[in-house]
Amino acid sequence: ATGKNIRTYFEGRWHEGDVPVMRAADHGAWLGTTVFDGARYVNGLAPDLAAHCARTNRSAEALMMTPSVSPEEMEAIVWDGLAQYPREAAVYVRPMYWGIEGGHLAVMPGDAPAGFCICLEEVPMAPDDATANLTTTRFRRPVLDDAVVNAKAGCLYPNNARMLAEARRKGYANALVADALGNVAEAATANVFMARDGEVFTPIPNGTFLAGITRARHIANLRADGVTVHEAVLTFDDFRTADEVFLTGNLMKVTPVSEFDGTRYQVGAMSRRVRDLYWDWAHSEP
Ligand code: PMP
Repeated sequence: ATGKNIRTYFEGRWHEGDVPVMRAADHGAWLGTTVFDGARYVNGLAPDLAAHCARTNRSAEALMMTPSVSPEEMEAIVWDGLAQYPREAAVYVRPMYWGIEGGHLAVMPGDAPAGFCICLEEVPMAPDDATANLTTTRFRRPVLDDAVVNAKAGCLYPNNARMLAEARRKGYANALVADALGNVAEAATANVFMARDGEVFTPIPNGTFLAGITRARHIANLRADGVTVHEAVLTFDDFRTADEVFLTGNLMKVTPVSEFDGTRYQVGAMSRRVRDLYWDWAHSEP
């Protein structure tokens, strides 16, 4: 592990550092039954932590695993672990489940409670002027009949890794990814939005991509601030006619896109508004 100041919750308590959790015979090690979620602690706040904990359990259930802690317990455990960090630390919060016992013919994960751990690690926020450039990739988001896209499952991410590898080889930071029909789904590691003539557009969830918690928060914040947000079928050509494009996810909240395959964008007003609205909302949350 390369992270800084790692702490691990495992088998009922917090441990200093990165501790081994999976065993050689665990279903997760053998057949890849792992799910995770990612939340963030920044400036003493953990925005939407409850939603991330709830999604962790839904992901486990989508892979036929039995969650061993409730979302409420998980949230309390996370806060307990975060108390060990200074308030100014930026911490990535990663709860995970994995299959321990094999069930019928071993391929199914079995009814025994899934293995559970939480990894905390200091990961700084990107500077406010950080941007990303995007290209296309030939790798697509699968549909539910091909893969468990209704879960945040570890086994989906090798596909995202090859999207990123392809983009990096071409000199780009990330890829704009198509769904099975060839419309824009998301980026390899984040959701995507575009702004045109003062209105905001983002791909409508169609079951192929992760409709992120941060994405939903930004949509709600923008609408509450009077901005028209369209969830729509968007093509790559739509993105070529945008004024502004930005990526969203729990880790960096919003990252302006400077370029998509030669099309340059303003880095500006809407992405700043989204960021400001996000932190205003986070600070005012009870
Ligand atoms: N899509 C993918 C593939 C991701 O890995 C992430 C990061 N979790 C997102 C979208 C953004 O989701 P969220 O806002 O829930 O973090």
